[in-house]
Amino acid sequence: MKPSSLLFAGALILSVNPLFAAEGASPAWTEVAEVDVQLMGDYEGEWLDAPKGHYYEINKPLAAQVMNVRPGEYFLRFNQELDHRADAYFEGKGTLEGGVIRFEGNGWKGEVSKDGLKGTCGQGNKPPIQFSLKKVVRSSPTLGAKPPEGAVVLLDGKNLDAWEHGGGRPVSWHLLENGVMEVRSAANPEERKQGIGGDIQTKQKFGDCKIHLEFRYPVEPGKAGQGRGNSGFFFQGDYEVQILNSYGLEGRWNECGALYKTSPPKVNAARPPMEWQTYDIDYKASVWKDGKKVSSPRITVRLNGVLIHQDEEIPHATAHAFASRFKEPQGDGPIRLQDHSNAIQFRNIWLIPGK
Ligand code: MG
Repeated sequence: MKPSSLLFAGALILSVNPLFAAEGASPAWTEVAEVDVQLMGDYEGEWLDAPKGHYYEINKPLAAQVMNVRPGEYFLRFNQELDHRADAYFEGKGTLEGGVIRFEGNGWKGEVSKDGLKGTCGQGNKPPIQFSLKKVVRSSPTLGAKPPEGAVVLLDGKNLDAWEHGGGRPVSWHLLENGVMEVRSAANPEERKQGIGGDIQTKQKFGDCKIHLEFRYPVEPGKAGQGRGNSGFFFQGDYEVQILNSYGLEGRWNECGALYKTSPPKVNAARPPMEWQTYDIDYKASVWKDGKKVSSPRITVRLNGVLIHQDEEIPHATAHAFASRFKEPQGDGPIRLQDHSNAIQFRNIWLIPGK
């Protein structure tokens, strides 16, 4: 792509943005507009001048999430608080113009700039109520957690020795200079012929375990749904905890934090693209006797420190296809990481085997 072809509504996206040149191996990490990183994300603040006794005077806090949809186009969602499953106060499209995102609809009007998010909400003939929010970066409390004694270190940035592709094929994913591992996709047919890309899995097999894992997804303007920031990791080789760039979305059963197509997360705790995130999981493997399942796996999941599943049963394999859900693994299996064609990055993965 030529830089000259990428002028969208005042946002110049260079084919290689030098600010992000060191971020990753895939172009997804370098084709990032500075304005996206500056303006998208979480905002917190409050209503400023709601009349006494008004709902917004009693419930003063206000939060917003600003997500990139495609170059120059954004989507905004307003709630009373973040990490809380509730209907949005307002959601709608924003457009970038001169480094400022402007939005308007349903009586709401405002703008997002490097100084914050400001606007008004008007209802009927009453004077509009003002709000003001500031950008917040809410880092996970477990970012950088060190492996305790007895932990199996699966990724410490030095090598990819713990991993292989299925069938023992040597791992082809990128290990970057900064020790970060990046999905190398099998999407390119020429590379695929050379044995590049595809899911990877641990050489060692595990049953019950606790795991800590850090990941992040790029912005990928213009991509959407399951095509944006998709990966995931599978316990016993077959039960997927989903990774997806579902920042600011509803938190459905196929989005980030979901036990894929089985259980949605309690709340959508996914963070904005480019930010490092954490999974901390307690996994109890299924138990089988004489070829019959005695009990299904159970799982407790914290995404970015937020409890999103508590002792949740995984009643069947998390396969996309219905029929495949009943082909379940019996006994220990590898931890598998998914290549879903997006350049997801991983670091600091360790696991404590046992109950
Ligand atoms: Mg996935």
